[in-house]
Amino acid sequence: MTDHPHRHDLARCQALVAQLNDYLDGELPAGLCAELETHLGDCPDCRVVLDTIGKTVQIVRTLDLAPPALPPEVEARLLAHLALPHHPGS
Ligand SMILES: [Zn+2]
Repeated sequence: MTDHPHRHDLARCQALVAQLNDYLDGELPAGLCAELETHLGDCPDCRVVLDTIGKTVQIVRTLDLAPPALPPEVEARLLAHLALPHHPGS
């Protein structure tokens, strides 16, 4: 049996997750940002990863450790993105 009805493109997920830090730093090129956000809207697993990273950033801030380079506008955009129930589909 080689059936994988919901075949997860793990390599793609890993590639995108590897870019989440740049994404959170707002250093990701717009094209990749859109690609990543499209994938996030489609892949709950990656959303969890992004959420986890976001929480980690918050914890680090609370503990007043080395401040992560996360501009407020990026954070707001990120939170708004995570708050979205679902992509309407364009
Ligand atoms: Zn994914």
